[in-house]
Amino acid sequence: MATLIAVLPGDGIGPEVTAQAIRVLQAVAPGHDLALEFAEGLIGGAALDAGEPPLPPATAKLCDSAAGVLLGAVGGPKWSDPEAVLRPEQGLLDLRATLGVFANLRPVKPHPALLSASPIRAELLADVDIMVVRELTGGIYFGKKTRSDTDATDECRYTVAEIERIVHVAANLARARSGRIVSVDKANVLETSRLWRQVTTRIMAGEYPDLELEHMLVDAAAMHLLSRPASFDVILTENMFGDILTDEASMLAGSLGLLPSASLGVAGRGLYEPIHGSAPDIAGRGIANPCATILSAALLLRHSLDCEAAAGQIEQAVFRTLDDGLRTADLAGGAASASTQEFGDAVLARL
Ligand code: NAD
Repeated sequence: MATLIAVLPGDGIGPEVTAQAIRVLQAVAPGHDLALEFAEGLIGGAALDAGEPPLPPATAKLCDSAAGVLLGAVGGPKWSDPEAVLRPEQGLLDLRATLGVFANLRPVKPHPALLSASPIRAELLADVDIMVVRELTGGIYFGKKTRSDTDATDECRYTVAEIERIVHVAANLARARSGRIVSVDKANVLETSRLWRQVTTRIMAGEYPDLELEHMLVDAAAMHLLSRPASFDVILTENMFGDILTDEASMLAGSLGLLPSASLGVAGRGLYEPIHGSAPDIAGRGIANPCATILSAALLLRHSLDCEAAAGQIEQAVFRTLDDGLRTADLAGGAASASTQEFGDAVLARL
């Protein structure tokens, strides 16, 4: 029986980049005895335009029945009226909560051929290999919100259980890497961060005494990510800090268009998406970088279908395409050598 992959192209460049990732998945599957079946669902602004909520019930059902979910991006100026009751981004938050994907893994490893695409000096980037583990379904993005004419509030809340489970994810990843975790918080100011630090310290000392744990304030981490990025291995952090730090870290790799992510829960099913947004400034022009989404599809094969060989094959094809000099506009200033589709063609040719 075929394995169902739910595809949610979303808004802006989402449909352009997911189309390339699907072509790559279709091409790689037969060589690994994988029978994949794809079914598309609406989410975000595309769902609102169809008169549906940002996460339509049919999409939630589709994702629930799939082995993995591949998502493009949601949002854009068309739906960003501050007075709007329904926003595209809510669809993504609801999907993460519905699927219970609390652990967001964001690998950051600059490709050697792209060191000059980063605004950071190449000698600082050579040994950078970071895994950001971001808590995804708690914190300020999910807290109670209030709004009146004179004020607004966003509640930031974390439970001990939410922190414990993400610490275990980070620790297990660190064990398979260099054994070092930097836990990022704002414990000098925030109560949630003081709980985060206490729980992290307890779990690590009690269950992972072989691993090295360092606590770092988020403002210092933002600075050290640029001044000494190679000193980090696993970065463990809460929802909003992880969101911001990974956009910053994308500049180590050279472009937001390069970084994939995997969001995992307790079951094998995961949500896979590029870390970038819908890039409305370039949507519809066929120039978006599809790497992050193609690499997210590789993570889907690795984490949800347990097919390491196929995942590795896709990653190698993407890296060889970059080694061979193909560059979408984001990596090439004014001298792009490939459109979104041409980059996809080149990856297919190298598979
Ligand atoms: P963005 O990530 O969409 O774009 C930031 C910049 O990076 C833009 O200049 C864009 O052109 C460029 N960029 C991003 N991805 C690229 C790619 N693959 N190839 C080439 N260039 C790329 O962030 P933004 O502009 O702040 O947000 C736009 C919309 O996306 C907003 O509505 C926001 O809420 C939404 N958003 C969605 C997600 C998501 O769906 N996971 C994440 C972030 C932002």
